[in-house]
Amino acid sequence: MPRRPLDELDNLEDIELPKPLPLRRICSTKACRGTARPGGRHCLACHARAVRRYRDRHAQQLSTRRRDAGALRDEATRAADSARAKLAMALRRGTMKRGVCHKCGTADVVGIIEDPARWRDIVWVCREHRQAELERRQEDMERRAYEAKQGVWYDERAQALAAIELLPSDEQARLHTLAARGPAGTQLSSDAPLYVMNLVRAYEASLAY
Ligand SMILES: [Zn+2]
Ligand SMILES: [Zn+2]
Repeated sequence: MPRRPLDELDNLEDIELPKPLPLRRICSTKACRGTARPGGRHCLACHARAVRRYRDRHAQQLSTRRRDAGALRDEATRAADSARAKLAMALRRGTMKRGVCHKCGTADVVGIIEDPARWRDIVWVCREHRQAELERRQEDMERRAYEAKQGVWYDERAQALAAIELLPSDEQARLHTLAARGPAGTQLSSDAPLYVMNLVRAYEASLAY
């Protein structure tokens, strides 16, 4: 093997370390000798079984959640259409008057309905200030989209929770102890959102050994 001249070795980062041998990790399920999934504690079969079991046990809950999300979307669209129609009708009948731009006082305005449930609360804006108002609403929408995306994480969380149920009870207890740690030394109850987040985080951290 050719040797590197010493002066090239000054920077220790230049030395390539030998790669660690890949270890075969055994599935954590009792009596299972399967190979753990990369980054996971259980073999593919055990993991799939855990996820299936979780889905079965929570089938009702999961389908209700899906249905509610769809209904909510339809409802929001309907509510917005109906609010716009009510406003147009009120303006035609004269029961409501156009305001002036809330930024500059110009009378040539369009109305933006903030919340369909309170369709009389109109933000009146001139053409010039409409853009700023729409941008603000766009930001709101992006924030909501971000929150919706977090819903996708729910599935990942469900899988982590299912995997935790497969752990030996002492390991589960350890994770639950970590999960209960709230901010500033407080104890969280097990139904607190932060508790569940902590639990999943603790589980994921325990995988990174
Ligand atoms: Zn297994
Ligand atoms: Zn204006």
